[in-house]
Amino acid sequence: MTEKPKLAIVFGDQLSLDSAALDAIDPDRDAVLMMEVAEEATYIPAHKKKLVLFFSAMRHFAEKLRTAGFDLRYVELDDPDNCGTFEGEIVRIARKLDVGRLVCALPGDHRVKCKVEKAAGELGVPVDILPDRHFLSTVPDFQDFAHGRKTLVMEHFYRRMRRSLGILMEDGEPAGGQWNFDADNRRPAKEIDSNSIPPLLAFPPDSTTKNVMAMVDREFAGHPGDVEKFDYPVTAADARIALRDFVDHRLAHFGDYQDAMLAGEPFLYHACLSSALNLHLLDPRDCIAAAVDAYEQGNAPLNAVEGFVRQIAGWREFVRGVYWSNMPGYADFNEFSADLPVPDSYWTGETDMTCLRESMKSLKAYGYAHHIQRLMVFGLYAMLLGVHPYRLHEWHMAMYVDAIDWASLPNVLGMSQHADGELVGTKPYAASGAYIDRMSDYCASCRYDPKSAVGGDACPMTTLYWDFLDRHQERLKSNRRMTFQLRNLEKKSTEELSSIRTRAEKIRQRGTA
Ligand code: SF4
Repeated sequence: MTEKPKLAIVFGDQLSLDSAALDAIDPDRDAVLMMEVAEEATYIPAHKKKLVLFFSAMRHFAEKLRTAGFDLRYVELDDPDNCGTFEGEIVRIARKLDVGRLVCALPGDHRVKCKVEKAAGELGVPVDILPDRHFLSTVPDFQDFAHGRKTLVMEHFYRRMRRSLGILMEDGEPAGGQWNFDADNRRPAKEIDSNSIPPLLAFPPDSTTKNVMAMVDREFAGHPGDVEKFDYPVTAADARIALRDFVDHRLAHFGDYQDAMLAGEPFLYHACLSSALNLHLLDPRDCIAAAVDAYEQGNAPLNAVEGFVRQIAGWREFVRGVYWSNMPGYADFNEFSADLPVPDSYWTGETDMTCLRESMKSLKAYGYAHHIQRLMVFGLYAMLLGVHPYRLHEWHMAMYVDAIDWASLPNVLGMSQHADGELVGTKPYAASGAYIDRMSDYCASCRYDPKSAVGGDACPMTTLYWDFLDRHQERLKSNRRMTFQLRNLEKKSTEELSSIRTRAEKIRQRGTA
């Protein structure tokens, strides 16, 4: 009896021909399935540019699969038979083809993995969920690292990755004699001349992307953002051009100003490659090789190259390991029992806090805000306010073009909200408006005073910072890295603390200042 064919499923964040799922099938007898489903766009109200990016990149990749000789079944969003969910479409197409086995690379979302398993159960066929070879490490690699450790320190994992992959190593030692140049990477925004920042390379939409833009505008009219001026790379070829542009024009200053924030400058010297990487249009090995080559050719300093390599080979791989080693329970962590909704201003941008307003301008326009805006504006304010960490993760998933569950959840819930205790971060990123004043030009044009915690002009970040330390001091006392901040709290008079609490409560009731 002839064996029934297999169906390989390729999701929108797995757009690489070098996929274990494609290797596992015979193009002469098996088929590939790609799906645009409404549920993935609406279970959180995804930013219109995120939807254009995914659907357009998927349609371009579909052409690549057809050219490579695969029998592709591509379900478009407005296909009248499309039932709108992954599991429904897998079952429908698998029944039509009478397949005997499903196969896919590990999805980027635990929820989606459950959907594949549910579909296989409904069909009564086995499913092979294969390792995703895009990543530099495997989930078992990470679990081997984590085994027996009381705490997981990213730096330790990163060094292990550098050693095992031989990245920036010289005679068994780290290049430049140290593993981490982060201390050199905190130069403030006031040093930057805006006119000297190289513009980001734009990839104007082709006819495929234009069709998708019209579809997204029509089908998701009420979603945040707009489709205008969409210019992200949507093919592997364009993503490689974007990588080259970063290495040639921005990498040299990437390290120096990676924590800087400047009004009207959404990209600064950031790579802006995360969406291409997370859709697998770019291979992390190519990113690392290009940056290391720039260092070896004398075209970029070590602090910049090491900082970039740490993001790709260290942090990105580390959070993915944390995610898959702790799901589904990880999503429920809520160390500070925070329960407020995401403030309206995180959707509308309407606020008199300059830091939030400026960061929202970028987020609404591009579906992007750089990492220090995410961590030290949106993340900081939400944590100080007491926003429910999973609600913040959902907002992040909706608003950011590069947000995939495996990356978003540990970054938002773990790193920025410290909701997982000390699994991802060694201390909460708690800071007052003084930090934002030091690293940006926002406060100079703000109606609030970053130094004041009480009074009409008091900076909401500063009020909430002291209130946060006050509310959680018992819990924070056990963290030695918080000692200095808690000692400063003790210096506050009873009257000042009382005024801070009153003002903080008012801010919490309004959701924002
Ligand atoms: Fe933000 Fe406070 Fe600075 Fe205003 S003063 S920009 S609210 S940190």
